[in-house]
Amino acid sequence: MSSYQGVLHRYQGLLDLPAHTRTVTLMEGNTPLIPAQRLAEQLGGGFELFIKFEGLNPTGSFKDRGMTAAVSEAYGRDAKAVICASTGNTAASAAAYAARAGMRSVVLIPQGKVAAGKLAGALAYGAQVIQVEGSFDDALSMVVQITQKQPICLVNSLNPYRIEGQKSAAFEICDVLGSAPDWLCLPVGNAGNITAYWAGFKQYHELKSSGLPQVLGVQAEGAAPLVLGHPVDKPETVATAIRIGRPARGEQALQAAEESGGRIIAVSDDEILKMQRALAGLEGLWVEPASAAGLAGLTHELKAGRFEAKGKRIVAVCTGHGLKDPDIITKEMSRPLVVPPSLEALEEAILK
Ligand SMILES: *Cc1c(COP(=O)(O)O)cnc(C)c1O
Repeated sequence: MSSYQGVLHRYQGLLDLPAHTRTVTLMEGNTPLIPAQRLAEQLGGGFELFIKFEGLNPTGSFKDRGMTAAVSEAYGRDAKAVICASTGNTAASAAAYAARAGMRSVVLIPQGKVAAGKLAGALAYGAQVIQVEGSFDDALSMVVQITQKQPICLVNSLNPYRIEGQKSAAFEICDVLGSAPDWLCLPVGNAGNITAYWAGFKQYHELKSSGLPQVLGVQAEGAAPLVLGHPVDKPETVATAIRIGRPARGEQALQAAEESGGRIIAVSDDEILKMQRALAGLEGLWVEPASAAGLAGLTHELKAGRFEAKGKRIVAVCTGHGLKDPDIITKEMSRPLVVPPSLEALEEAILK
């Protein structure tokens, strides 16, 4: 039998969770760190590039790392229900872990703004899904208010245990590489993940002198409050997972970037979609658009001559699986060719 029992078990003692926590796990974490040599060559070469493929978590995104912690804490004190606002992946994850714990889950999503694969997930796991005629930020404000009045557990990344669980990704990277990378590139939406990575790398460094990466956080141009320096009322981007105008942990994200000697930048939707295709076409890694933002940001900086990559070891976090948002591919790509059922037609189509 496999001895792997999920991130709470593996990093027991390093995650600050209350004593009453009772583990609810789907064996999340332990995701591969995949070398991306062909992509690195295309970007100019001379450096090592690894993809932390978080789309291989049980519900298809890194959200499972934090959700196992948040739901385990709630379950341990006999909470009966969890609630979150979500651009999609948090909803699917909350619903799955709640189901496993026998708890009720309620998720609020911005109407019409959630990828079909994510909504389907939340419904499949039995969540009560409520569409809000408003943005993610409106939905988040509603769940914060209701959890102050009602005995329902908030499992957005404002929940401190989510951050604790998500630190495990930084630990895994150090464990696999033997130390922290020189740079970590990742998308930034509500900014829980960048906050968790930075906390994780710092904690490991104190414990094991594993070193600290510089952090490149990447937002989408139409949803870049941390780059603009003010909230964005109507955030717009194809990268639905980072379509957020008022990041709950914005201050901490800016602090992580600054402390690490890194920065937060914005890239266009076009750059994001190009990188999504490059990852799939060059490396066989299909990620959802938001997940390509970190690498799109690295490319952007390299092209602008603002990034010294030579000899560096770079890890890019690909936060979610492409299967979550298949529509974007079918919309962007030309429709497959139709041929009659004959060998000649097939030869004509593929050999000419
Ligand atoms: C949630 C999410 C993000 C953004 O993470 P934050 O912690 O909100 O910054 C990026 N990509 C994917 C696929 C996500 O699900």
